[in-house]
Amino acid sequence: MTGGKYTRRDNLKMIGAAGIAGLTGCTTSIPASTGEPTPVTTGSIDVHAHFLPQHYTETAIASGHGHPDGMPGFPAWSGEDMVAMMDRQNITRSILSVSSPGVHLGDDDAAADLARFVNREAADLAARYPGRFGFFASLPLPDVSASLTEIDYAFDQLGASGVILESNHHGVYPGDPDFDPLLEALDRRGAVVFLHPTSPHCTCGVGQGHSLPAPILEFMFETTRVVTNLVYRQVPIRFPGIRFIIPHGGAALPALADRIAFASAAIPSAGDLNPQQVIEQLGTFYYDLAGAPLPRQLPALRSFASDSRLLYGSDWPFTPEPLVQRLKTGLEQTFSDSPDLLATVQRGNALGLLGPANAP
Ligand SMILES: [Zn+2]
Repeated sequence: MTGGKYTRRDNLKMIGAAGIAGLTGCTTSIPASTGEPTPVTTGSIDVHAHFLPQHYTETAIASGHGHPDGMPGFPAWSGEDMVAMMDRQNITRSILSVSSPGVHLGDDDAAADLARFVNREAADLAARYPGRFGFFASLPLPDVSASLTEIDYAFDQLGASGVILESNHHGVYPGDPDFDPLLEALDRRGAVVFLHPTSPHCTCGVGQGHSLPAPILEFMFETTRVVTNLVYRQVPIRFPGIRFIIPHGGAALPALADRIAFASAAIPSAGDLNPQQVIEQLGTFYYDLAGAPLPRQLPALRSFASDSRLLYGSDWPFTPEPLVQRLKTGLEQTFSDSPDLLATVQRGNALGLLGPANAP
C-alpha cells in the first residue's frame, strides 16, 4: 500500500478483521409487510454509493488525509468500474455521494471550490450514463452561507437528488442551532438529506496504536450521536419537510433507542419531549441497510422503523464487492418468504423517496 491507495485485498483484510464479514448465514425469518409493495421490474436502487474523482482524492491526500479516518487509504474508483459492479450486482441506479472526510478540508474558499467540483463531476457522470446515477450534493460546511449558495446551484442547475451531511462538520453536528438556516432551506425544498458518518470531533484514539480505524466502530457511534442530536433538538418536528436517510441500518440506534428515549427527560435541549415522541421521531427517518445489518441489527431496527423506511445501500467502493454480494444474498435469504417486500426494500421505497431516474 503506497500513495494513499489500497487494494481490494487490503480492504477485505481490514473489514474482515473487524468482523463485518459476518454477513453470511443470514437466515433470520422476518414476517412480510402488511403494506402495499411498489411494483418492481428491474434492479436495486443504491442510496449509499460513493464516488472518488481523482482530483478529489489527490486534494484530500494533499490535505493530510492519505489515511482517511485511520484507514490505509482511499479505495480505487472509476465510473467504468462502478457501472460494471452495478451490472454484476443488479443495481439499476446509484445515488452518488462523497464519503468522509467530505469537501471541507480546512479552508472555507477551497471547500466551496471542491464542493462545486465534485457536484459537477457527479452531474457529468449522471449525464454520461443516463438513468444510472443521481447524486447527493456535497456542501462546504460548516460554512453555512456558502452551503446555501451550493444548495441552490446543486438542485436548480445540476438536478441533485438531495444533499449529504456528515455526522459533524469540524465539530458542528447537524441539529446544532448554527445549522438551522441550512435546515430551513432544505425543509423548504422538501429535500432528501443523506447523513454519513465521519471521524468524531474528539480524537477518541483514532489513528493511535491501540485504536481501530474509525469506520469500524466510531462511525457507528457518530451516526448514533448525530441522530440523537437531531431527535433531542426535535429537528423532524421543526423541519418536517426534510427526509433524512440514516446509514448503516441506523448504526447503534436499534440497540440504544430505548436508552435515548428515556434519557431525553434529563437533557435540557430536548425540551418537553417524552420517550414515545423520541421513538416516533426515529420512525420518521429512512434507513439504508449498507454494512452488516444481518442477522441481528435489522430486526431491532424494524421495531421502530416501518418496512416503508428501509432502503438498499452498498457503500461501494469502501465496502468491497464480495461483501456487497454477501449483503445482497443475505437480504434475499432474509426476505425469502416475501419477494414483494424484498423488492420494496431494494427498489420500491427508494423510488417513492427519490422518484424515477431523470425526473425533473
Ligand atoms: Zn459510506
